[in-house]
Amino acid sequence: MYAIIRTFPPFLVDLIRQTGWLVILTIIFVPLERLFAIHPSKVWRSGIGADLGYFFLNTILASTLLGLPLGAVAFAAHYLVPYSIQSALNEASFWTRALAGLLAGEIGYYWGHRLMHTVPVLWRFHSIHHSPERLDFLVNSRAHPIDLVIGRLFAFAPLVILNLGTPAGSAGPLLPIVVGLGGTVWPFLIHANIRWRFGPLEWLIATPRFHHWHHAMDPANQNYASMLPVIDFIFGTLHMPQRLWPALYGIHEAMPISWAGQLIQPLSSETFPPASVSKNV
Ligand SMILES: [Zn+2]
Ligand SMILES: [Zn+2]
Repeated sequence: MYAIIRTFPPFLVDLIRQTGWLVILTIIFVPLERLFAIHPSKVWRSGIGADLGYFFLNTILASTLLGLPLGAVAFAAHYLVPYSIQSALNEASFWTRALAGLLAGEIGYYWGHRLMHTVPVLWRFHSIHHSPERLDFLVNSRAHPIDLVIGRLFAFAPLVILNLGTPAGSAGPLLPIVVGLGGTVWPFLIHANIRWRFGPLEWLIATPRFHHWHHAMDPANQNYASMLPVIDFIFGTLHMPQRLWPALYGIHEAMPISWAGQLIQPLSSETFPPASVSKNV
């Protein structure tokens, strides 16, 4: 079966793989969101069609769009980063390199994400991810392809610059499981409508509570890290208040409901409309 699938065009293989992941994620999260909901919600809620569109489109587009800028970063790093730095890191143990890679990627992502919230042209793209007024696991997929590429570029560029993208040495059988969970399931979990608490772990790793506050309408602009809340603590943007969950999620601007409208709006020259002007029109 696998041999047959390998003969398919790459986009079809991506499509089959993504469909498999969607089935797995649905089996995991839909029952949990029924049993442990923070806010009552439906599976077939508004915007689900657009979110499914992003789920498939971004997988196929992101790696293609990312290749060129990341190649340019690697080319520049080859000439600009002193060889002694890369060489010292090359000789470090596997886990030192893995930890350095995680920290470098997190710091890169943090600043890319923070810029997306503060630079108006970047916010036009990123606001799509923040537009839902309720969160569930599938909101993780809602991201304009340009937004996704910028975020990943900031996360991956430090790894390319420091040559930490491919940790050398033996990791044992644990790493593929950790990377698979961390890279694929965890981002869906932190968006999920699940009121689980994680005790002291909430200060060590991003959890639903940490990321739900990132999506809060008021206050906004906090908890930018993707995995490590300590990065927000260091840069003064950590927000974990006594109140457990935000009352209101979303953005102050109006957002088209249709998927096509969302994809086009950031590219148009029209003024980004505030919600008070056009949301109820
Ligand atoms: Zn954000
Ligand atoms: Zn999010």
